[in-house]
Amino acid sequence: MTLLIKNGHVIDPDTKADEVMDLLIEDDTIVKRDKKIEEKADKVIDASGLYVMPGFIDMHVHLRDPGQEAKETVVTGSKAAARGGFTTILAMPNTRPVVDNPDVVQYVHQKAKNLGAIHVLQVGAITKGQKGEELADIEGMVAAGSPAISEDGKSVMNTKLLRDAMKVAARLNIPVLSHCEDINLVEGGVVNADDHGKKMGFRGITNSVEDVIIARDIMVANDTKASLHLCHCSTKDSVKMVALAKQEGIHVTAEVCPHHFILTSDDIVSDDANYKMNPPLRTKADVEALKEGLKSGIMDVISTDHAPHTEEEKSAGIRRAPFGIVGLETVAALTYTELVLEKYLTPMQMAEKMSYNPSKILGLDKGSLAVGKKADIVLFDPNVTYKIDKTKFWSKGKNTPFDGRTVTGMVKTTIVDGRVAYDSKMDRQ
Ligand SMILES: [Zn+2]
Repeated sequence: MTLLIKNGHVIDPDTKADEVMDLLIEDDTIVKRDKKIEEKADKVIDASGLYVMPGFIDMHVHLRDPGQEAKETVVTGSKAAARGGFTTILAMPNTRPVVDNPDVVQYVHQKAKNLGAIHVLQVGAITKGQKGEELADIEGMVAAGSPAISEDGKSVMNTKLLRDAMKVAARLNIPVLSHCEDINLVEGGVVNADDHGKKMGFRGITNSVEDVIIARDIMVANDTKASLHLCHCSTKDSVKMVALAKQEGIHVTAEVCPHHFILTSDDIVSDDANYKMNPPLRTKADVEALKEGLKSGIMDVISTDHAPHTEEEKSAGIRRAPFGIVGLETVAALTYTELVLEKYLTPMQMAEKMSYNPSKILGLDKGSLAVGKKADIVLFDPNVTYKIDKTKFWSKGKNTPFDGRTVTGMVKTTIVDGRVAYDSKMDRQ
């Protein structure tokens, strides 16, 4: 089976290609890349006017499977990811049961494999049951294919235990993905701690809730020589600390989610839990620092923290509803609209932060459109403007503050191992 992608604008951070070219794929591999490929192929896609980028890699997804399948499953989450341009996603371990042993890792991997839509990599928990008491079977989970460990949803509050985990991670050469939140400082907060939130009558979460753990984790990473990756950074000081740590030669990388680089707490104008996430929406100064951090390269990755919940749960209001919003099907358009069109990122940097850098951090052989690489590819149309419509999501989760927002840029086709996993023609009209 051969597939020819013609006349697309190839953006490849690996080889620095940034020009209109053709790509020939044989089975699951890119076999030729040239200005003009005349060979016949079984299938031809005309990519005129489209960006051809390496398939996106989301380092932060909650698939809710096993245990909370009313919110999402490996199947619906994978399909939503394909619709968002993702060819690989990392599933977080805070499921029921928690992913703290190789059996659960294998369950998720097998389920994703049976579906055959995209690559799903299951992250292992750091502690058993995410209880923060003893280390999980990290070695076993890595042997079963986990590319990283994380206690996401919370921090490992016992610093000694975190240090033990980082030593294991350093030895196994896998990164530790840190959700940074000092649980003792949260005090029932549900939105950012600022005047606006106070006026609306909500308890606040200060920046320091996040910042003290970022500082701690960077120091422990320095001690142990582990690779630390900071999840969903939301504060201006996170950018400063990452910059400083990098200057000092500490192995730290960081991700930012669209809601944190677009929205502020001032956007909360009613008791709508689609604006409730953890970390919360911060202030304008934080948003500006995160955008500048992405632009300068201090912040390495754009991830979604895709966190589906049912309509019923999210209708409970900001005080009682669970934290989190969905993101898989909106991140590419939001990034293009808010960062590329606003001149914070070039299309090349967008491909770096959504594919190449995650691949590098995780040690995957992905994020590249070089000849010989597996054909994980996204075709992105930068010329179409439309309103985000949550009723079209393939995710079970419709909990997004971006419904109805006007964006530019649309994922047209997602190709995984040379097969079309998503095409916009599959959308409900
Ligand atoms: Zn988290």
